[in-house]
Amino acid sequence: MSESLAPNNPGVREFEATVESVDGTDVVLSETYFYPEGGGQPADRGTLGDELVVDVQPTDGGVVHTLAEPPAFDAGDDVVGVVDDDFRTYCMRAHTASHVLYGAARRVLDGLGYGGFGISAAPTGRRDSDGADADIDADTDDGTGADSGGTAGDEKVRVDFTTTTDVDDDVFVELERLVNRAVWDARDVTWEELPVEEARGRDDVAFNTKTEEGVMSDADTVRVVSVDGWDWAACGGTHVSNTAEIGPVTLLDRSNPGEGMTRVEFAVGPAGIGRRAAVHGAALDAARELGVAVDDVPAEAARLRAERDDLADELGALREEVLAARLADCDAVDRDGLTWRVGVVDGFDANQVGDAAQRRVDDSADDVVAAVGGDDAPFVVVATDGDVDAGDVVDGLTDEFGGGGGGGPTFAQGGGLDADPSDVVAALRR
Ligand SMILES: [Zn+2]
Repeated sequence: MSESLAPNNPGVREFEATVESVDGTDVVLSETYFYPEGGGQPADRGTLGDELVVDVQPTDGGVVHTLAEPPAFDAGDDVVGVVDDDFRTYCMRAHTASHVLYGAARRVLDGLGYGGFGISAAPTGRRDSDGADADIDADTDDGTGADSGGTAGDEKVRVDFTTTTDVDDDVFVELERLVNRAVWDARDVTWEELPVEEARGRDDVAFNTKTEEGVMSDADTVRVVSVDGWDWAACGGTHVSNTAEIGPVTLLDRSNPGEGMTRVEFAVGPAGIGRRAAVHGAALDAARELGVAVDDVPAEAARLRAERDDLADELGALREEVLAARLADCDAVDRDGLTWRVGVVDGFDANQVGDAAQRRVDDSADDVVAAVGGDDAPFVVVATDGDVDAGDVVDGLTDEFGGGGGGGPTFAQGGGLDADPSDVVAALRR
């Protein structure tokens, strides 16, 4: 059983090896620098001989390279393997960034525990270590931003962890600041095999229970990856040798995927750069709209929101006054010794008119208030002091004009009447 040489030789992109076996499109080599899928890092792409490598998986029988077509070579032949440089380099930068993010989390989160990691990678449709959909395209563009748009697309990386700290906006932004500070500080990244007992005894080493099987399979030693002075983790993936190689890191989102986990998603490379430009642009747009400097946007937005709420309250009170005045302006009709206030009220909905009508009766301004509103299929509200049954009045109107409604002795309303509002008022006057 031969393991991939990639984790300890992450710079190798081309190598020669002897073919040990060919089974259809599955090829095992005497040695390989292809990284097989594992630990959240997707399998390398590339070529063996003239054939495309579409998958690489670790098996008990060694690392299996799956080709797009059965190869022309056979067991015993020597072949050249070429690891796709763009994709592998992207994976190394994204993967190492996850260690740096965890190191940042050590500094701001309480009760921290490691949960998992995954690089999404689209074209192969493979799934990452936790079975989440994997879809990341590590394309490299020309840097003009032509395809970076306003979103990060699918090119993202996730880190799951447990913590008792609420990752609110401030914590989220502080994590991003610390990650990029550690990148700027150009910390060396190294790896070494440690006896399992020693690694387990060090409480600064993060272990991932979901993905460490490969790391721990030998049981005698464990591979510990160190970001100098920043983070230590049991890990069998491929890494850059210095954090400066990672480039800018943009945090995209955080969520709670369940099992007490907190998930932070981030992007490196063009997707992250594009996302940051989009956010920067949005901040400047907001500042221009508000007429303030970008640093003053939060305070100005809060001030405008409070002002809007005050104005809404004031408008509501004024509309109530207008509605009360409209009802007071309606004709007073004497029916059986009771004063009915009857008329059309426009510009308000049935609930508003109903409330105003009840207030008028409660204030003993009238014995009955019957108001009609709305243009098509008008509504009617009836409020009384109890001498007239409001429900009976509405029932009489819906019998005559259609629509529906109902209510109790002191308040009732109907809607969807098939009549002009003035016809309904005329009926109420009778
Ligand atoms: Zn790693």
